[in-house]
Amino acid sequence: MSSILHIALAAPVYGLFDYLPPGNVPEENLVPGQRLLVPFGRTERCGMLVSLSNQTSVARHKLRAAHAILDETPLMSREHLAFLCWVADYYHHPPGEVLLSALPVRLRKGKPPLVPRPDRIRIGDIDADTLATLERRAPRQWQLLCWLSDRGGSAGMRELRSRFDNAHGVMRALRNKGMITLGMADDAMLPLQQPQFSLEPEQAQAVAAVASRLGQYHAFLLDGITGSGKTEVYLRLAQQVLEQGRSILFLVPEISLTPQLISRLEKRLPGPMAVLHSGRSDGEREQAWQMARKGRARVILGTRSAVLAPVPDLGLVLVDEEHDASYKQQEGFRYSARDMALVRARRAGCPVVLGSATPSLESLKNTRDGRYKWLRLTRRAGTAQSPRMRLLDIRNQRLQGGLSPQLLQALEEVLTQGRQAMVFLNRRGYAPVLSCYSCGWLSDCPRCDARQTMHYRQRKLVCHHCGNERPLPSHCPSCGSGELHPLGQGTEQLEQILQQHFPDHPLVRIDRDATSRKGSLDHLLAQVRDGRASLLVGTQMLAKGHHFPGVALVGMVDVDGGLFGADFRAAEHMAQLIIQVAGRAGRGEHPGQVLMQTRYPDHPLLQTLVNEDYAAFTREALKERAQAELPPYSFQTLIRASATKAETAEQFLQQTAALVEKLAGREIQAWGPVPAPMQKRAGKYRSHLLLQAGQRGRLQEFLSTFVPALSTLPDAGRVRWSVDVDPLDLY
Ligand code: ADP
Ligand code: ZN
Ligand code: ZN
Repeated sequence: MSSILHIALAAPVYGLFDYLPPGNVPEENLVPGQRLLVPFGRTERCGMLVSLSNQTSVARHKLRAAHAILDETPLMSREHLAFLCWVADYYHHPPGEVLLSALPVRLRKGKPPLVPRPDRIRIGDIDADTLATLERRAPRQWQLLCWLSDRGGSAGMRELRSRFDNAHGVMRALRNKGMITLGMADDAMLPLQQPQFSLEPEQAQAVAAVASRLGQYHAFLLDGITGSGKTEVYLRLAQQVLEQGRSILFLVPEISLTPQLISRLEKRLPGPMAVLHSGRSDGEREQAWQMARKGRARVILGTRSAVLAPVPDLGLVLVDEEHDASYKQQEGFRYSARDMALVRARRAGCPVVLGSATPSLESLKNTRDGRYKWLRLTRRAGTAQSPRMRLLDIRNQRLQGGLSPQLLQALEEVLTQGRQAMVFLNRRGYAPVLSCYSCGWLSDCPRCDARQTMHYRQRKLVCHHCGNERPLPSHCPSCGSGELHPLGQGTEQLEQILQQHFPDHPLVRIDRDATSRKGSLDHLLAQVRDGRASLLVGTQMLAKGHHFPGVALVGMVDVDGGLFGADFRAAEHMAQLIIQVAGRAGRGEHPGQVLMQTRYPDHPLLQTLVNEDYAAFTREALKERAQAELPPYSFQTLIRASATKAETAEQFLQQTAALVEKLAGREIQAWGPVPAPMQKRAGKYRSHLLLQAGQRGRLQEFLSTFVPALSTLPDAGRVRWSVDVDPLDLY
C-alpha cells in the first residue's frame, strides 16, 4: 500500500493535508522537511512534508497526488519539524501557518534556494607592471588591492563594503580582470580583539554557573542592572560553546539589533555570523537562514522570528532584555519568542540564559519556584556608577512646552559643563491632539477611538493606531475658526523647544519618525557616541540597550501617563521603562542623575523605584498578582473578535462563551465578552473574551478541543477572530 504524505500548507486549518506521492517518485526519495508542490483547489501550492504514514482520514479515492518535489535535501531536520509542530500545538495555531512562516519568504513561495553568495575576497596573481598601470589608470581598484594585500591577501566582504564606497563596482572590475577571486569563508572574517579587563566576581560566578551546565538543559535568569556587564557574560559563554563546536542562538529585541552590537560580537567571536531580522532584504535573510541551517554560521543573532530558525548542534540559547514586549508577536501567529527559546533549549538539551536589568514578573516567579537559576549582577562593571533618581513635583508649576524650571536648569548645568543630557518622552509627533478653541473640536481619528497626532514638519494629522492621515487643517473643520491649537507635547515639539532654549548645543532626536530610513538610527546614534550631539530627545527607542557613556542627566518629561493604565501589567511595564531609561545615565566615569517630572509624587510605584529599587517593586507586584490570582499565578488565553458592527463581534463571543460553558470544567473561568479598551480601531469594532485557569496544563487541555470547535460557531464566518495564548496585553 502506498504511503500517505502529511503536508503542511499555509492555510487557516487545524491540521495537515494528506496527499499521495507524486507519480514515479520512489518512496525513499521522500523525506520530511522537503517542500512539495501540491494541487490545492484549482491552484497549486508549496507545502512542507511533515511525515509519512499509511493512515488517512480522507477517503482514498479523494486523495490527490503531489505534483513535484522541490528540494532534494530537506530544508528542516525532523527535530526542527517536531519543535515547530509543538509550537503550533501550544499556541493552537494552524500548523501549516507556523511551519511555513518559519521559512524565508522566497522559500515559502516555492522558489529554489538561493545559491550561497561568496562572502570573502582573495587577491589573485598580479605582476608589478600591471599593478603600476592600475595605480595610474584606476586608483580605486589599486587602493582596494593594496588594502587586501595589507590584510594578508584576503578579507571578509562585509568589512570591505564598510571600507569602500561602491565596493561592488570596483570589485566587479577587478574580478573581470582576474585580479581577485571570490569565495566562501570558513575561517574568521576579522582579526579578533579580546578586551583587557578581567571579569568582576559576580560576572565570573555567572559564567561559571552556566558553563557547568553546558550540554544539558538548564534555565538561568541573568538579573543584572544596566551596565553591569551582561553582554560580557554572554560573550564569554558563547566563546566556550564555539570551542565545543556547537552553535549559539542569540535573541535580542527589535531595536537593539544595531551594527554596534553586531560588530561587538564579530570582534569577539570567531567564524561567520548569521544575522536574522526584518530590516534586511528577503535575499539577505535567506542567505543568513541558510548559513544557520547548514551550520556554516555558528552564531545566529536575531530578533523574535530567529527562534524559529533551524540551528543544528544548538549549544546555548541567549535572550537579551527578556522582559521586552517585542518578543511577543502581536498579530497573526501570536507567539512569545522568549518562551519558545526555553522550549527550544529544553528540546536541544542545552542551557538558556534570559538576561535583563528589569526581569519580567513571570521570570522572577520562575526563579522563586526553582525552575530558573537566579544569577545576579548588582554592580556596574568597571568604574561606572549607578545613577541617582529624583522626582520633580510639577503640580502648580509653570511649564514651558512641558518642561519645568528645575529640569531646564539641570539641563543647563550639565550642558555648560560640556556633558550630554537626554530628555525622554514616550510620545512621538508634535502634539497628541489638535483642538479648536472656538468650538471644542478635537482631531479624532475617523476610524478609531483615538485622536490623530499632529505632525508639524510633515504638516499632517496622523493616527498612530491605524495610520490614517490627513493634511493639517488651517481652519477648524467643524466651525471654520482659525483658533486651532495643539494640546500636550510630543518629541517633535520638545525638540523645537529645547533647540530654542539651548541653541548652542546640537540636538539629536530619536523616535520612529526620525529613524524611518534605513541606517538613520545608526547615523544618529553615532553623533551621540562621538560627542557631536550633546542633547538627545526621544521615545522608548532610546531606552533599549544603547550605551551612551557621556550622558550625565536623564530627564523624563511625563511618567504619569503610564501610572494608571487599564491593563494589569501597566505598572510592570512602566517600572521597566523608567529603570531602562534611567539606566542610560552615567555609564561612563561620572555618576549620572535622573529627574522625573510627575504630578503624583506620592504614587507608590514612583516612591518604591526612587527610594528602593526595581527588585523592591517586583516583590510588591508579585504579592498583588498572587492575591488577585493574575499571571504569573494563573494562565490566560484571550479570544479576540472584530467586525464592522459591534454587535456582530459581541454575538460571536457570546456563542464562544456558551461553548466554554459547554466544554469547560470548573477550572476554566471566562470573563466577558467585553469591548476592547479601544473598541473601534481601523474601522472595526473589537471585543474579547478572557479565559483563565490556575494551571497551564488544564487550560491547554481545554483549548485543544475548544479552539478547533470555534470555527463551527454560527457567526465564525462573519467576524475576524483569533486566539492569543499567554496574551501580553489585553487590547
Ligand atoms: P550590560 O549588557 O549589562 O548593559 P555590557 O556588557 O554592555 O553591560 O557592559 C557595559 C560596559 O562595561 C561595556 O563597555 C563593557 O565593555 C564594560 N565591561 C563589562 N564587563 C567589564 C569588566 N569586568 N571590567 C570592565 N569593564 C567591563
Ligand atoms: Zn471649531
Ligand atoms: Zn486611527
